[in-house]
Amino acid sequence: MIAHPIPQAVDFILVGGGKAGCLLANRLAEGSEASFLVLESGKDLTDEPWITDLNALRGQFKSEELTWQLDSVSQEYGETAFKRDNVSLVTEATATKILLNPLEPGPLTATGVEVSFNGKTHSIAARKEVIISAGTFHTPKLLELSGIGGRSLLDSLEIPVVIESPGVGQNVQNHLMSVVSFELNEGIAIGEGGQTISLLALPDRQQQQDLFNEHEPVEPESKVSYEIVRKIFADKTEASASFLLAFMGMPNFATLVLMQTLPISRESCHIHSKDTNQSPRIDPNFFSNP
Ligand SMILES: Cc1cc2nc3c(=O)[nH]c(=O)nc-3n(C[C@H](O)[C@H](O)[C@H](O)COP(=O)(O)OP(=O)(O)OC[C@H]3O[C@@H](n4cnc5c(N)ncnc54)[C@H](O)[C@@H]3O)c2cc1C
Repeated sequence: MIAHPIPQAVDFILVGGGKAGCLLANRLAEGSEASFLVLESGKDLTDEPWITDLNALRGQFKSEELTWQLDSVSQEYGETAFKRDNVSLVTEATATKILLNPLEPGPLTATGVEVSFNGKTHSIAARKEVIISAGTFHTPKLLELSGIGGRSLLDSLEIPVVIESPGVGQNVQNHLMSVVSFELNEGIAIGEGGQTISLLALPDRQQQQDLFNEHEPVEPESKVSYEIVRKIFADKTEASASFLLAFMGMPNFATLVLMQTLPISRESCHIHSKDTNQSPRIDPNFFSNP
């Protein structure tokens, strides 16, 4: 159900109509009396076949309407959710601030969101909860703009600190990928689609293991993945990297994609301005940890 006009109050607000937002809206609304509102920055492109048909995926890369700021849309995940009477969606609506109520006794409560819609700023109250599902990069952006984050960053941007939480925007994990395409000799059969093959031996295994053991995890949350990587070093047959051989519709070309399966380096993603229209800044930090 498309919300029109934009409501002033609902029970649950979900910021972001991507996979997480749509799935959560669908599950939480099932058999519930509560009202749910999904706010999505992107346009409603649910009628576009290259969105609803996964085989048409390649069209997305050509689109001028979708950018790598992840201004994506509610895809087929939303279809079931938005058929429910108690779930509504507003597209091209960007949450710019979480409204937090510090005046009530007890813990701080998110009481709604401020939204930029049709060139105006609206406040929408949440009677029960605000759920932030704005994706890896825009979730920390919204938290920091709302005063939830590391003190030094917020102080430097003159954003009042509402909740000091230095982990916001930290510990981003990403698979570094290198891609090489090459032309094949005539007559080489390449088959259809892509083939995924895992397992690559590390040439300086011992040296890498020693380096790895010298460095303790920088962040406590990384301990689990450190343990997994330790196991990989201990067992020569474990996968340490993967490669994907893909044939992207070109009869005589193959693409080799090399990818870390368990990166230990951690990225960060933070705002660098109070301006809500500015994209957050990502520091990839590749290879900062062996
Ligand atoms: C190139 C690429 C390839 C990937 N390949 C895979 C893969 O093969 N397998 C896999 O499992 N995962 C893959 N991922 C990761 C996958 O896309 C994410 O894990 C998944 O989309 C996360 O879902 P999400 O709902 O958290 O975020 P998203 O799907 O990013 O949804 C967030 C939504 O919030 C909206 N939004 C952001 N800020 C606001 C705001 N302030 N107000 C309102 N709306 C807002 C955005 O427009 C977006 O629609 C890939 C990602 C990329 C970029």
